[in-house]
Amino acid sequence: YDAKRQKTGLRVFSAMTEVARQQDLTLASQLQQAMQENELRAYLQPKLCLRSGELVGCEALIRWVHPERGLVPPVEFIPFAERTGRISQLTRWMLAEALRLMAECPLGTLSIAVNISTHDLHDRELFDHLRDLLWASHVEPQRLTLELTESGLMDSDQDPVALLQGLRTLGVRLAIDDFGTGHSSLAYLQRLPVDELKIDRSFVSNVDLEPRSYELLETIVRLGHSLGLSVTAEGIEREGELDALRRAGCDVVQGYLLGRPMPVDKFMSWRSEHKPRS
Ligand code: C2E
Ligand code: MG
Ligand code: MG
Ligand code: MG
Repeated sequence: YDAKRQKTGLRVFSAMTEVARQQDLTLASQLQQAMQENELRAYLQPKLCLRSGELVGCEALIRWVHPERGLVPPVEFIPFAERTGRISQLTRWMLAEALRLMAECPLGTLSIAVNISTHDLHDRELFDHLRDLLWASHVEPQRLTLELTESGLMDSDQDPVALLQGLRTLGVRLAIDDFGTGHSSLAYLQRLPVDELKIDRSFVSNVDLEPRSYELLETIVRLGHSLGLSVTAEGIEREGELDALRRAGCDVVQGYLLGRPMPVDKFMSWRSEHKPRS
């Protein structure tokens, strides 16, 4: 903010930053309250095996059930939480919630993927915290997947390989999220100790309508397989996209076409009624 003000010298900027600062303060106290008042929810979105149509797990996506604003999506508070250091509390909440759901799930095993912010990678205490949570929950660690974005991993000033190796010793699965939108070199990619590659939605969208998009998608799937990874595609909205992914040999699919993110009780009934389609 200050840098901007010095550069432009414009008054309008300081007025804007004042408003922004007030909004941040309001959001900060509301978010604090949200955690105390149980206003956070994990919505679950199904992940299906493309070949068999079977449910292989789900991704937990955070929602804030705000008393006045209704359902608030993560874009409206995750970046803020990252900026102000509150993300570690949210991440801890989500990890505990995911492990609770896995431990209590009435229908046998369920695997959950949790999104981890770049800021969390530098939080040494989070590592110890997660180890304690896993131990206390008695959940097999491989049922938990941590999703880390490609750009977050590559832009970190620490060695991503060392960071991921540390997490791996906990026995959890690791996935690279939003793959294709960051800038990992192939040399790095080969060294990253991960299990799954999630192709960003931008490569899936309308892939059936443009031959060049299809070729790119197929190349990414092959790249993932040649690295020995399971390849997931996110954001599938149409049958044509699903067909293209099947042709490209993708392993796991996720998107509105197959199932939206749902509140836990809705997900559980969806799950018991789900019949593999092929
Ligand atoms: P992401 O991890 O890449 O999650 C995928 C996003 O795409 C989710 O948005 C999901 O609802 C949405 N999506 C799924 N299928 C479709 C589809 O077919 N079409 C379209 N248009 N969108 C689809 P959401 O839930 O709004 O989350 C956005 C981002 O916020 C996530 O991207 C993730 O980066 C972040 N996020 C969500 N929950 C958490 C959390 O608990 N912790 C952290 N650190 N970040 C989170
Ligand atoms: Mg994700
Ligand atoms: Mg993603
Ligand atoms: Mg994303």
